[in-house]
Amino acid sequence: MNRRQFAWRTSAIAGLAALRAELPLAGQTPGSGGNKANSIARITATAVSVPCEYKVGSYKRNITMGGTVAEVETADGLTGHGFTSITNDLVVVSAIRDVIAPYLKGKDAFSREAIAEELFWRLTPRGQTGHAVHAISAVDCALWDIAGKKYGEPIWRLLGGARKEVPVYTTCGMNFLNRDELAQVARDIRKTGQNRLKMVVAAGADQLDAGGKSVEGILAEDVARVRAMREAGGADAEVFIDANQSLDEFQARHFVREIAPYDIGFFEEPLRANDIHRLADFRREAPMPIAAGQNEGALSRWRDMLENNAVDLLQFNVCMAGGFTAGMKIAGMAQAFGVPIDNAGAYANFNMHLHAGVANGGMCEWHLNAVAMCRVLYNGVPELTGGDRIVLPDKPGLGFELNRDALREFAVK
Ligand SMILES: [Mg+2]
Repeated sequence: MNRRQFAWRTSAIAGLAALRAELPLAGQTPGSGGNKANSIARITATAVSVPCEYKVGSYKRNITMGGTVAEVETADGLTGHGFTSITNDLVVVSAIRDVIAPYLKGKDAFSREAIAEELFWRLTPRGQTGHAVHAISAVDCALWDIAGKKYGEPIWRLLGGARKEVPVYTTCGMNFLNRDELAQVARDIRKTGQNRLKMVVAAGADQLDAGGKSVEGILAEDVARVRAMREAGGADAEVFIDANQSLDEFQARHFVREIAPYDIGFFEEPLRANDIHRLADFRREAPMPIAAGQNEGALSRWRDMLENNAVDLLQFNVCMAGGFTAGMKIAGMAQAFGVPIDNAGAYANFNMHLHAGVANGGMCEWHLNAVAMCRVLYNGVPELTGGDRIVLPDKPGLGFELNRDALREFAVK
């Protein structure tokens, strides 16, 4: 085999060299119109810190939510926006402004696969994920928003148009609620028509946030909190719990034995760093389904969760996993393994498009803190229908727009 044949085989198998060489300038892509109207003219990133209100029934609490907004503008004036969160936003802003933007200016905004491959090599060539994939996610969502606006279609239809509405579960059981408040919140949300309730457990059980409390003490109180949620929610409620990767396997085993009577719908991210082998081990004996994946950033991690039977429910978030482009690939893998998918990590207003687009779409997370932030930061974000589902918008692209005044006011300087 000569060098040329070897290079061709490599690119055909791994999809690497050929794609790297083909990241098109605008006007070079079939169907792009042969002009430069589609070229990326401007990319911006803004970290935000948004004051908003968690409100359920008569309970109110002022909170602050953060994230990074990316905007991409084409030469002909189409602007798309994307978002990422649950990370260090100033690092993400720098990655977009200083690393991504210089490479993408002048490139065809509609060559999303080529751009995804280019950014993989620019930002994560040796298996890194972290902040870089958050930055890639926000830019990819903006590119899909542009595509929808160009074609006059909502993103969920471009992704496949499998359904017009998606079910949600409501994340309402925040750690700032005391036990009585938690129960009242559950009762109030049930009255809205929602019977799928998620609560945080093991908050502070990781070493950074323990604040002098013992893990045993935190989990003992959480057993009582889970019981309160179950009793207030009623026997016909689905109760989900999320440990945000705070526990080790021993702690998690002890905890699930204690809460086994309360019929938990799924236990999300019980173990530190989503250790896949430990998750698989834990899952074999846990008395409830196990879910994980919202903050992962490499396709091979979701593959490994599936191959190792580590989860009953594969979760990901288009705002963190690499955008809709990566989300479609994860959804496809999960379908091949016969494992259902859900959105976790909040931001249903973005993730609803994927779960409505693909045949195996699942639930989106109606995270009350994130919902409150999005109502401030955007105009036209979707609200719930019947208390437990989102009817997808027919507007092109994402279907909602940035509130420019809010973006300016709450930008982190
Ligand atoms: Mg979570």
